[in-house]
Amino acid sequence: MANLPKCECESCFANKSGRCMCLNGTDFGNRGCPFYKSKKEMTQEKISADCKAYSTGFGEGGNG
Ligand code: SF4
Repeated sequence: MANLPKCECESCFANKSGRCMCLNGTDFGNRGCPFYKSKKEMTQEKISADCKAYSTGFGEGGNG
């Protein structure tokens, strides 16, 4: 929780107080975040499933 990355997409399901609760990094270059989803289209169940998938696919491990 200490070093959550900043994100300005406050309408995103993963955004809490200007920080991304899902990803370890939010530097997507010139592109927008590919993981953005509005709060409306997400349920709590989907959120935890997607968060898990995101952290597996992005920001973890540092292999890339
Ligand atoms: S998933 Fe993407 S758009 Fe949503 S809060 Fe995280 S970095 Fe921002």
